[in-house]
Amino acid sequence: MTSVLRLEGVSHQFDGVRVVDDLTLDIAEGEVVCLLGPSGCGKTTALRIAAGLEPLQTGRILMGDTEVAAPGRQVPPEQRGIGLVFQDYALFPHLSVADNVAFGLSALPKPVRREKALTELRRVGMDSAADKFPHELSGGQQQRVALARALAPNPRIILLDEPYSGLDTALRAQVRDDVLHLLKESGAATLMVTHDPEEAMFMADRIAVMRDGRIVQEGSPHSLYCYPNSAFVAGFFGEVNAFTGPVSGGQVETPIGPVAAGSIPDGARATMVIRPEGLRVTTLQADQSDYTALVMQSRLLGRSSLIHLHVESGETGSTKEWHFHSRMPGIFLPEAGTRLRIEFDRGQIFVFPAQEG
Ligand code: ATP
Repeated sequence: MTSVLRLEGVSHQFDGVRVVDDLTLDIAEGEVVCLLGPSGCGKTTALRIAAGLEPLQTGRILMGDTEVAAPGRQVPPEQRGIGLVFQDYALFPHLSVADNVAFGLSALPKPVRREKALTELRRVGMDSAADKFPHELSGGQQQRVALARALAPNPRIILLDEPYSGLDTALRAQVRDDVLHLLKESGAATLMVTHDPEEAMFMADRIAVMRDGRIVQEGSPHSLYCYPNSAFVAGFFGEVNAFTGPVSGGQVETPIGPVAAGSIPDGARATMVIRPEGLRVTTLQADQSDYTALVMQSRLLGRSSLIHLHVESGETGSTKEWHFHSRMPGIFLPEAGTRLRIEFDRGQIFVFPAQEG
């Protein structure tokens, strides 16, 4: 892979606290890579360092073969030829919407510049606001103009920090779809920061999951969702049911049945993680007495139903109680108090060494 943007061994501290820790990431031409992680894990700092908005402390940044940042030496952001959409990289208040978008097009003759700006604005549905000023627009509209401004000069590298955060659900779906196609058409290398796993899966060819300043897993959305390497990554891609217990005879006895413990040795503790869609409930037949659960609540969520389950495990006298969620396709709303048979889809179970505490 020829990388257009490379962050190499980047570490960063604020007030002695390390917030980015030895981060290395390559982005190829035409590739969309998302940095995904919880609030405060260092995503924005990494992106700001790549942009040149934050001075680099350790490591280096390469654009193609050119080193644009090393400790004590850096090319200013405006000379890096990158398109930026950052929360604090606002529109110029004294320029009209069209002039904001035309700002980066100074190489073009003036009339062509406006035409190109209008074309970019049309792509994000903002051409009718071309002669307005930023303060006359809503936050979401300003964000769309900022996207048009970043994309207008056809930069080789685009950096996006939570670019859809100011948009309502319907507009977000439309704008991110448009932006994905624009990015793919442009062939730019894109690095986007988000804390929203669905957004990352929608946009990214590759996702790097961050935790405490480090990349903990990197891969295609499919590989991260289907083969998470930790309970943290599994849980970050959506709600999970989790159970921690001792390994015995190569398996963990969970309230919903025994689960193979893989390479985790007997005597160690393992955490079993299963997504609600991997936990299936069916009507209990008279001759079935194995793993059952009591329905507490059932809720229709649209395309699926969420069933809150009460599960008991252990012998009489030392019973333990669990609360699990099952997600069933379509409308399936068993009444509270119904006892159901519970089974799990082995393809959706993940087992990891327990991380106590
Ligand atoms: P969010 O999704 O909430 O924006 P993030 O993953 O992007 O979070 P960063 O904004 O990179 O996280 O912040 C990482 C850590 O560094 C946080 O603990 C934050 O408080 C701290 N931090 C960020 N910028 C500064 C700064 N200029 N001075 C001091 N600490 C900072």
